[in-house]
Amino acid sequence: MLPDSLKTPVCAYIYDKSVLRARVAELRANLPTGTTLLYAVKANGHPDVVHTLAQECDGLEVASGGELDLAITAGARRIAFGGPAKTDRELAAAVAAGALINVESAHELQRLAGLGLHTDICLRVNRRGPTLTGSHTMTGTATPFGIDETQLDDVLATIPDGLRVIGFHLHAVSNNLDGPAHARFITDAITWSQRYGPQIRVVNVGGGIGIDYRTTTSMDLTPLKQITVPAGIDLILEPGRWLTADAGRYAAEVIDLKTTHGRTFAVLRGGTHHFRLPAAWGYSHPFTIHHVDTWNRPYPRPEVTDVTIDAVGELCTPRDVLTRDQHVDHLRVGDVLIFDRTGAYGWDISHHDFLRHDPPQFVIL
Ligand SMILES: *Cc1c(COP(=O)(O)O)cnc(C)c1O
Repeated sequence: MLPDSLKTPVCAYIYDKSVLRARVAELRANLPTGTTLLYAVKANGHPDVVHTLAQECDGLEVASGGELDLAITAGARRIAFGGPAKTDRELAAAVAAGALINVESAHELQRLAGLGLHTDICLRVNRRGPTLTGSHTMTGTATPFGIDETQLDDVLATIPDGLRVIGFHLHAVSNNLDGPAHARFITDAITWSQRYGPQIRVVNVGGGIGIDYRTTTSMDLTPLKQITVPAGIDLILEPGRWLTADAGRYAAEVIDLKTTHGRTFAVLRGGTHHFRLPAAWGYSHPFTIHHVDTWNRPYPRPEVTDVTIDAVGELCTPRDVLTRDQHVDHLRVGDVLIFDRTGAYGWDISHHDFLRHDPPQFVIL
């Protein structure tokens, strides 16, 4: 079902706050009691989404001054601030907002101290291993994120006055689908962190809980429940994708249908400038069809039956493809394709201004 408030031709993101709340409840039910849950704002920075998750989670994880402002406006109770290229202004604003900074390099420590900022901090560490499988691996390999584990002892020996290391930030992967491996990664992160003594109270294991876009499944959360968190350790998880993906749907009307050189295309009001993820990751995002029966034009309505189609967008590039080779029983111009699981890294990562089409409508349920 589509909301009544959609304009035509249909082109809309529909975000459902009740799904956000349900997701938080489901995740909490599978985490060890007392785990701190922060929402990683970069997955979906729509103010209503951020506000809802600021209330439902313990706080927010932000990675820019813009996200920091969103988090403050949303009334976040706790804020973690990360990112490999923080500016002086961002560092000062984050400390002023009471955010816990995840420091990404020895030089950033010097900059914090040079700004006269006195605060407790976490160090983001790029560990030697173990690595997790997923879409982007950020540790155990060369990346711009965090301090190489082999340099950590030297960095810890030279922490500038006024700064106190109270924990580590160990975000390692995006879209991991292996629940038992994720639980092992978290347990290992806790054990490893404790080697650095009792002043280490915060173990932030980041996000990365995955969902499988080709199916309706997600990472199995149940192994997380078995993780043992020692007394005095604040275990922080900061998922983005898993909390928001299922709270969003992208709906786009079929403007034209055509077959060229043996391939059938449904051309949509919309495309990768609104939902870039399939193009960025090179997969086909499945859709369902909302059939619209009304047709009051004086000319015939184009339609296809029992055929495999590509769902493509309105941009003047052959790369504007959301889905390849999905079978449809019946599809007509004026029907609407619905792309589920588009609440994370959808609108937020897309190149909105390319070709200057009207933006989609945003409907918040
Ligand atoms: C992107 C990011 C997250 C969220 O990752 P998801 O894969 O969306 O769960 C959490 N923490 C940090 C530091 C990130 O960069």
